[in-house]
Amino acid sequence: MIATLRFPKRSYTGWGSIEKLINELQELKPEKILIVTDETLVKIGMVDRFLSPLNENYQVRVYTDVEPEPSLACAEKLVDFTRNGGFDLVIGLGGGSALDLAKLAAVIPKNDGNVTDYLNLTGKRQLKNQGVPKILLPTTSGTGSEVTDIAVVSLEGTKDVVTHDFLLADIAIVDPQLTVSVPKRITAATGIDALTHAVEAYLSINANEATDALAIKAVELIGSSLKQAVENGENQEARTAMSYGSYLAGLAFFNAGVAGVHALAYPLGSQFKLPHGESNAVLLPYVMDYISSSCSEKLTAVCDILGMKWSEQDYLEIFYKLVEDVGLPTTLKEYGIPEAALSSLTEDAIKQKRLLARSPKPLHKEDIYQIYQMAYNGL
Ligand code: NAD
Repeated sequence: MIATLRFPKRSYTGWGSIEKLINELQELKPEKILIVTDETLVKIGMVDRFLSPLNENYQVRVYTDVEPEPSLACAEKLVDFTRNGGFDLVIGLGGGSALDLAKLAAVIPKNDGNVTDYLNLTGKRQLKNQGVPKILLPTTSGTGSEVTDIAVVSLEGTKDVVTHDFLLADIAIVDPQLTVSVPKRITAATGIDALTHAVEAYLSINANEATDALAIKAVELIGSSLKQAVENGENQEARTAMSYGSYLAGLAFFNAGVAGVHALAYPLGSQFKLPHGESNAVLLPYVMDYISSSCSEKLTAVCDILGMKWSEQDYLEIFYKLVEDVGLPTTLKEYGIPEAALSSLTEDAIKQKRLLARSPKPLHKEDIYQIYQMAYNGL
């Protein structure tokens, strides 16, 4: 099989790597910079602390109208704002929500139409113009958005994406320092999101030797540090391992894809407003259990790396415990999702053909319903 590997043009990683931002700007020589971030990051002083030096040499506009799990309307509003703003560089600072919007702000205004026209499920247009350069600075260790060509938006009932090479970061700066302030529950949810990226990429039918190497290292880093990062956000070693782990998991899934967990998680985000990481976390044990017969060798290898023996517990228990241990809910019931909603969740999940196609075990409508039912009931 011939495999293609795609990466952002340049990445900086490691504690303190944000200092490279200034050098990059000196090379790119922008005149007017748009910073896409969110209100929380302004309030906690992160924008001031890390980006205020830019005001000395550049014209800078900070845009904060960023919802968590941004809706299509939120994305369209930003694109409208950007179109006539004369910006020649976009910096995204935030979790996946701000980074995804930054990608759209950099690219869509340089093309005809709006975000809707380029959606994967329903869009009719192809992007023709690259847009302006973008620099992405993740502040959560989770989505891997800084290294993928994907921007996710929430729709009624489900989520959809714009994907294109043009959405890839010119520069990704993955500095664990920026994640120290992430609260416990968001650390847990985003961390399980990153783990899910690594595991689904490893089990994907599109996996290859290179993506396996990225995914396995990511599982190792996340498995050995997530709990510590949740328990003590100031733990520099744990935050650094999580930062590398989510970066590598992002590269793994960008190149091999994610599958069933994500396909079933999208409707939970849209219909019940669960944060992306939590939607993945509450489904991960049940999807792993359901597909295990089609990928048991690889799944056993993942459990070994996570320090859990499959011979002593089954896959369901192993992943359930992992989610429970970081303090996240483990059933749909706990989120107050009614059993009656399982049919409409199934109807929306089945639309995610792009994701379901990579599952090692084909997932049809009845399989999806059964997984939601398992996740409703719990262990
Ligand atoms: P998020 O960006 O929605 O942020 C969650 C919350 O954490 C927000 O309130 C934010 O203000 C806060 N936060 C972020 N960094 C912080 C920090 N350092 N200190 C304190 N608070 C902080 O969450 P996320 O999970 O990173 O991103 C979710 C979005 O990313 C979803 O829309 C999801 O669909 C998308 N996503 C994109 C990709 C991709 O490849 N593009 C992959 C997976 C998920």
